[in-house]
Amino acid sequence: MIPPIANRFVAGESPSEVLEHVRTLNTRNVAGICNLLGEHYDDPADATGDTYAYIGLIDEIADAGVDGCVSVKPSQIGLDLGQDVFDENLTKIVERGAERDVFVWVDMEDHTTTDATLDVYEPLVREHGGMGLCLQANLKRTREDVERLADAPGKVRIVKGAYDEPSEVAYKDKGRVDEVYLELIEYMFEHFEDGVAIGSHDPAVIARARQFHQEYGTPYEIQMLTGVRTDAQYELAAAGVEVYQYVPYGQKWASYFYRRVRERKENLLFAVRAILS
Ligand code: FAD
Repeated sequence: MIPPIANRFVAGESPSEVLEHVRTLNTRNVAGICNLLGEHYDDPADATGDTYAYIGLIDEIADAGVDGCVSVKPSQIGLDLGQDVFDENLTKIVERGAERDVFVWVDMEDHTTTDATLDVYEPLVREHGGMGLCLQANLKRTREDVERLADAPGKVRIVKGAYDEPSEVAYKDKGRVDEVYLELIEYMFEHFEDGVAIGSHDPAVIARARQFHQEYGTPYEIQMLTGVRTDAQYELAAAGVEVYQYVPYGQKWASYFYRRVRERKENLLFAVRAILS
């Protein structure tokens, strides 16, 4: 069982718990992006296991009729074992997603994986649609990657970037990342007719996105994590903005929880309050 200190950020350990969480979100007009926690597998059995877990989850989402989709990490379904393993496993997940009309997101990991992830993703999305990829504003290459995907079907989730990258490939100054992030978002509003997905909790970014939407008319969605600015998620949804909550679940919750705490000390305070209240 997940202890109270962590369950603010993680929906539970089982598919039924994540579905229940998404059902509750749906009552507030927020959709769910379900992520089974796991990464960097070096045993093919683990990568295959999580591939089939996602396929099962896609069926459960479709059968339950909830407004939800999935998001997978490349190294969770075999990227560390080879690009071909990742390709084979992602293809299986995407084919089931297409059959059951459940959208499949691909998270982006550190810069050493960007080429392989894009090279597997791009042909798949051009063939099947129904997929999206995360791209990171802190990487200097991202403008080109965004341009590369502008005419592809599917969606791009643009984020600031969560990995500590070397200065040869990444902007290190937070102000510069914020600036580039807004430039990329504006480019996407101009060129991504099917819509822009923004993964951010930043109120300034969300306010700009609303302005860009008014200016360009492009549809957009805001994505935030479970347990972070939940009230803002509900408020945006109530105001008619399309909101998705990224909902992690599974037995490997501990490292995810510690990452949230390292990222922002206040999160520990929130977690402690959750236990005391
Ligand atoms: P920050 O720059 O961290 O903060 C800006 C402002 O936002 C703060 O000043 C505050 O006002 C508000 N804020 C931020 N956090 C909190 C909080 N905990 N509580 C209250 N207010 C807060 N990164 C990847 O590298 N790959 C991925 O695949 C990926 N997927 C993601 C999916 C989603 C749905 C989201 C939301 C993020 C994802 N990220 C991913 C992480 C992302 O790259 C950033 O590291 C993370 O979102 C922090 O940046 P930020 O824009 O939220 O705001």
